Amino acid sequence: MEILLSKRLIKAHGTNNPTRIAAESNLMVLYEDLGENIWGYYTCIRRIPVIHVNSRLEGFAAIFALSHELAHHFLHQGINTPFLRRNTLFSVDRIEREANRFALHLMIGDTKPEIEETKGSFLKRCGIPEEFHIFY
Ligand SMILES: [Zn+2]
Repeated sequence: MEILLSKRLIKAHGTNNPTRIAAESNLMVLYEDLGENIWGYYTCIRRIPVIHVNSRLEGFAAIFALSHELAHHFLHQGINTPFLRRNTLFSVDRIEREANRFALHLMIGDTKPEIEETKGSFLKRCGIPEEFHIFY
């Protein structure tokens, strides 16, 4: 489901850039200082969807957090989704795992593994840190 969604969005928007996908989906993204531990969260109040991303994040973490919350918008509307926290990134919660898997596949985009390339080296080439490889 979440893998299919990532493919569908990349095709529809001609990009795997979550900032562009959010903008073209009329989704507001707010960068706020959420402190040390919270990476992001999603709200939908009076039918206005907003993705909140911690402005302290950089590089992979910033893209991952935005992509993760994007998954909640498309897959988990109406469900009260938890804050994405540094210390619960590897949560076993179903919707959290779905959002993490979506984020990973969105970042991989159209990149394909080479013949005989290991999963680890492929994901590394896609810019995914090792501890996140379990979401593939
Ligand atoms: Zn989440």
